[in-house]
Amino acid sequence: MRLNTLPPVLACFYLGLVITSWNVQADSFLNEKEKAYLSTNPKVVFGVGKSFEPFVIKNLDGSFSGHDIQIAELVSEHTGLNIQFKMRIWKDIQEKAKRKEVDGLLTAVFSEDRALHFVPSHPYLSMTSLVLVKKGNPQKIRSPSDIEGKTVAMQSGNVLFKKVLESITDNTEVIYFDQIHELISAVVSGQVDLCILDETAPFIAKKIGLTDYIEVAFPVGEPINIHFLLRKDQPELRTIIDKGLSRIREEEKIKIRDLWFGMPKKSLDWSLLLKVAALVLILFVVVLYWNYTLKAARRRAENALTQLKIKDKELEEANKILAKLSVTDRLTHLYNREKSDVVLDQELERAVRYGTNFGIMMVDVDHFKKVNDTHGHPVGDRILIELATILRSNSRTVDLVSRWGGEEFLIICPELDRDGLMTMAEKIRTEIEKHHFPIIGHKTASFGITVYKTGDEICDLIDRADRADRADRADRALYQAKENGRNQTTELL
Ligand code: GH3
Ligand code: MG
Ligand code: MG
Repeated sequence: MRLNTLPPVLACFYLGLVITSWNVQADSFLNEKEKAYLSTNPKVVFGVGKSFEPFVIKNLDGSFSGHDIQIAELVSEHTGLNIQFKMRIWKDIQEKAKRKEVDGLLTAVFSEDRALHFVPSHPYLSMTSLVLVKKGNPQKIRSPSDIEGKTVAMQSGNVLFKKVLESITDNTEVIYFDQIHELISAVVSGQVDLCILDETAPFIAKKIGLTDYIEVAFPVGEPINIHFLLRKDQPELRTIIDKGLSRIREEEKIKIRDLWFGMPKKSLDWSLLLKVAALVLILFVVVLYWNYTLKAARRRAENALTQLKIKDKELEEANKILAKLSVTDRLTHLYNREKSDVVLDQELERAVRYGTNFGIMMVDVDHFKKVNDTHGHPVGDRILIELATILRSNSRTVDLVSRWGGEEFLIICPELDRDGLMTMAEKIRTEIEKHHFPIIGHKTASFGITVYKTGDEICDLIDRADRADRADRADRALYQAKENGRNQTTELL
């Protein structure tokens, strides 16, 4: 035996074992007579009436389905009885049973006249009659007493429901219909106020699409038991069937009952669900979009704010530069005359208010014109730049060194008395004298100095310190320095 044929063989063997054990199990609870019946009756035929849906339904392919068929199939499973079905109109099928052409009947209520030929199996279904009304119960039919005076739809020839109605009241208008669906339609259309049917009504209502238009007002009458009716002459068949029925578990019965008789579950309103889902989706998208827009706007605002801060900083820097430029001499990068005017005013005010000292120093390059004349203007510029460096590096940080104009410089020296001012001027003058300038070598400068005196205006100070190259200002310090041979410091009190 090839290896790959082994699994199917084993499967068949296992299946055989299961079937055998099942048969043994099925046989084991049957007595000898019943077993003998089974062997002499390889199949039994049960007659079923037409229009017994959903108890019995004949499918288009000739097979049967429905509640009672499933019960019968379970009985077959448990007992090994091979049950076949034959469908005729109910009257004919009963006749056939009487003539012993069929072994039993399905979906039957046991009655006295039927007792002549049949014995009932244990009931496999118990049904209550129902009062059905239009959805919403417009007539407010809530109890048997509400039926009085109403119009009732009944199924023609249905003795059972007639009896139920008569047990409630005889004061009704009854309209008869042949088919169950006609009764339901009459209720829905308002032709009648109610109808009495059994639990097959929901199944039929569902079939004709009227489930949503009817409702059960209340159950009426005694529960009716449904049996297999079995020929009286075959007692073993009844006991086999009963044994088979007893083997069907309760939950199995409930499941089958629910399948065929349960009020159909309200189908999901997909279109509504879709609409709600679409709405939720739209809302979600809107919120998402809104959120995105807000975030984007926030990002833009943050970017703009950052840009604004950068620009603000740049502007601040530019303003600083501008402010610096506005007080700076372009050539020497010392403070310009405007700045020295402001500082002079401040120092004067301080001196007036607090009685502090301050002095000023006017510096003028000696014979500077010659430099330009001899070496050219650019060389003159370089001398002025170097001279500015000497002035700055030999002044205190509190001093203000500025270019007064041309080759003249002004140094404002706060908190300096006459001696201090003279010392400082001499020190700078000596530094200039010693300095070696490119191209021209040595160059000297003359210094006019003066300190603040009570009652001085700025112009007084400047006049005293400044060079006076005009006849009317012959007493000016700087002028005197020039007059006295240049490269010297002259003080004027
Ligand atoms: P003194 O000793 O009497 O001061 O003689 P001086 O030649 O220095 O004085 P003067 O007033 O006759 O000449 C000043 C010269 O300074 C004239 C001008 O060409 C020059 N000067 C003024 N400003 C600048 C400047 O920015 N650059 C250059 N290169 N020369 C300048
Ligand atoms: Mg000059
Ligand atoms: Mg000069």
